[in-house]
Amino acid sequence: MVLPLVDGYGRVATDLRVSLTDRCNLRCTYCMPAEGLDWLPTEQVLTDDEIVRLITIAVQRLGVTEVRFTGGEPLVRRGLVDIVARTHALGVETSITSNGLGLAKVAPALAAAGLDRVNVSLDTVRADTFLELTRRDRLHDVVAGLAAAAEAGLGPVKVNAVLMRGINDDHAPELLRWCLERGYELRFIEQMPLDAQHRWSRDGMITADEIFERLAAEFTLTPAHEPRGSAPAELFLVDGGAATVGVIASVTRPFCGDCDRVRLTADGQVRTCLFARQESDLRAALRAGADDDELAQRWATAMRGKAAGHGIDDPSFLQPQRPMSAIGG
Ligand code: SAM
Ligand code: SF4
Repeated sequence: MVLPLVDGYGRVATDLRVSLTDRCNLRCTYCMPAEGLDWLPTEQVLTDDEIVRLITIAVQRLGVTEVRFTGGEPLVRRGLVDIVARTHALGVETSITSNGLGLAKVAPALAAAGLDRVNVSLDTVRADTFLELTRRDRLHDVVAGLAAAAEAGLGPVKVNAVLMRGINDDHAPELLRWCLERGYELRFIEQMPLDAQHRWSRDGMITADEIFERLAAEFTLTPAHEPRGSAPAELFLVDGGAATVGVIASVTRPFCGDCDRVRLTADGQVRTCLFARQESDLRAALRAGADDDELAQRWATAMRGKAAGHGIDDPSFLQPQRPMSAIGG
């Protein structure tokens, strides 16, 4: 019996984001501090079998149709290819969001395991700015990872970019041109208050309107007129052609009313929203011997508590305790 993941506002979650680890090999300034962030203790992180069991429950009993693996950096999880293969065998769409480091090596194995698509995060194609933003000199690895993903058929390859004022906010047209030349679909994401250092400010962030202005200075952008539905990106046709660029205005034009997502953290907590301040612990129940019915019930119950919206503009807004890297973006 399928028990859909319905919340108190009638939204149904079918898109599951699974964080495979809170660890990462980059240190993007809008996400992690340079050092000093504690990792989850190993014994708290779900095993591969535990992850696959929870995904199976989500698919077979809770109506999930799409699974995206994220983190931290999902490629640093040793069992990734096997987890993807076992998830693919459930008959759902599978994808990953990755920083691209190591993707050049593993892309063929991921494609063979049944992975459908990848999103790779890349905020600039200038090596010095990449180093400044991620605190690691690894631009060449990301570029190679993107090429390998396209070559392995993990497309359409999407690129996620965050613009930071005074660092890469003037690189938007250059990044778009670079992606167009290679057939990658670029999406700009507004910076959200999810950094471990709690430095985000509403005034400091680059808004979707600013992103649009910077792109429109060099490209003709026309709305793609696709119904947005639960897809967060507003899409624009570039120079009247078939290629599109997306802007994800999570902060200034929230799409919470159409949200169809639910998240599972690497330590087995259900989060109904990136910005949730409460989590529901499935790991404890799972390790205490709960059967699939009970776990599905707990998950469905957790879903009912999903808030109407993220409330970033509400004066009482409080940033969640976990940073983006530990939630799973
Ligand atoms: N490490 C992988 C990566 O970077 O793609 C997956 C995890 S990362 C948390 C997922 C996405 O969240 C990335 O596209 C990243 O740019 C984005 N992200 C991280 N912190 C963010 C923030 N404060 N605001 C908006 N997007 C953020
Ligand atoms: Fe790592 Fe992704 Fe966070 Fe960058 S955005 S620090 S790559 S988890």
